[in-house]
Amino acid sequence: MYDVIVVGARCAGSPLAMLLARRGHKVLVVDRATFPSDTVSTHYIHQAGLSRLKDWGILDRLVATGVPPMRHLNFSYSDIYLNGFADPIDGITEVYSPRRTVLDEILVDEARGAGAEVLEGFTVTDLVFSEDRAAGIRGRIGDGPEQEFSARFVVGADGRNSTVAGLVGAEIYRSIPAACFVYYSYYSGLDWEFQHRTGSEPQQFGVWPTHNDQHLVAVMRRRDRLREFRADIDGSFQEIFDQIDPALGADIRANGKREENFRAMSYPDNFYRRSAGPGWALVGDAGYHKDPFTGWGITDALKYTEVLAEKLHEGLSGERSIDEAVVEYVKIRDAESNGTFELTCSLAELSLTPYYDSVFRATSMSPEYTTKFFGLIAGGIPGEEFFAPSNLEKLYEEVGMPADRRILTQS
Ligand SMILES: Cc1cc2nc3c(=O)[nH]c(=O)nc-3n(C[C@H](O)[C@H](O)[C@H](O)COP(=O)(O)OP(=O)(O)OC[C@H]3O[C@@H](n4cnc5c(N)ncnc54)[C@H](O)[C@@H]3O)c2cc1C
Repeated sequence: MYDVIVVGARCAGSPLAMLLARRGHKVLVVDRATFPSDTVSTHYIHQAGLSRLKDWGILDRLVATGVPPMRHLNFSYSDIYLNGFADPIDGITEVYSPRRTVLDEILVDEARGAGAEVLEGFTVTDLVFSEDRAAGIRGRIGDGPEQEFSARFVVGADGRNSTVAGLVGAEIYRSIPAACFVYYSYYSGLDWEFQHRTGSEPQQFGVWPTHNDQHLVAVMRRRDRLREFRADIDGSFQEIFDQIDPALGADIRANGKREENFRAMSYPDNFYRRSAGPGWALVGDAGYHKDPFTGWGITDALKYTEVLAEKLHEGLSGERSIDEAVVEYVKIRDAESNGTFELTCSLAELSLTPYYDSVFRATSMSPEYTTKFFGLIAGGIPGEEFFAPSNLEKLYEEVGMPADRRILTQS
């Protein structure tokens, strides 16, 4: 009998298993993948996420893999340019975009090293229930025999199409339709800094360095243009660079060499799903999923898995009822992630609302506020602080924003 079984062993599941095992709990984490394993993700980690890895003693190990640091970020929204970097967050002064084959394998290994049992290649097909509580899992490795494991508590860290969520009937209680599709791949031959560039047409490209002296190169457009994009994938991909930044378009045409096949995805909708019930919880994308436009999936998975670990520990050590403790994790997650969720869903439409246009335009005219903007993006400055009307009033005053452009709230 395990204290906790975790289904899914990537950025939410493995750290949860690691943190619980470090506290002396008996943990099993299973994943149908075998590691190293890739997944569709452009893998940018914010300072707030890196600070979790640092706290857990894993960051040095990640940096030692040779993942290139980024210390200057270039954002644009149409004709608004925001270039700079956030102030340090918990001593973190640079960011990374590690390949998931590298990051996830480290996380799995750290869970194992902490004493958690890790079962790779194991697909969960069913849950065990006892007296209306989740009490274990059933599944198998490949075509092997069905196996059953029991536990005091089961966590679904199994991604946005969560099997655990389906088996416990966890419903989605907040949903915003997805706007876009993405195509991305890995390029050699580029020496670009981080670029996150949205055009005056609703389209975007993102480029940043990753492992193997390569750059992750991604484009996004709204879904209604997918058919047209697919008709000439290479041409459409190049066209987005040419239209948003002709100089970078010329550079990628002349010097960029695509090293792998394109990965493509039409995004699933943004959602919050009921994430706690008798004997079970959901963490990471399983419980709360949003468009990758702001690159917050991994950081949030790391952040809230730590909250869940703390609450599970309180329950497992008998300080309080485990189910009550886990409900509190959900409350914290929902309250703290709301700003990121709303900002992400709005920006992922690929055209700024008049409110965000005014705020970002004014921000771009102030070096101080530009640094604050990067603090917001990196997780160092809460949205409630950055977007506080009093803060925006000060900003508009400082940059001499015309009175009719001083929008203080998102309608
Ligand atoms: C195109 C794209 C780009 C992205 N870019 C970024 C980015 O730049 N930065 C960022 O922070 N986030 C990004 N994200 C989001 C990020 O990938 C996710 O938020 C993150 O991976 C969530 O981690 P997770 O551990 O919750 O789930 P996942 O990474 O989805 O892992 C879930 C695991 O559960 C396992 N599993 C599922 N079902 C079962 C089962 N029945 N039995 C056993 N195992 C099971 C799967 O094999 C998988 O390994 C991107 C996402 C997409 C789609």
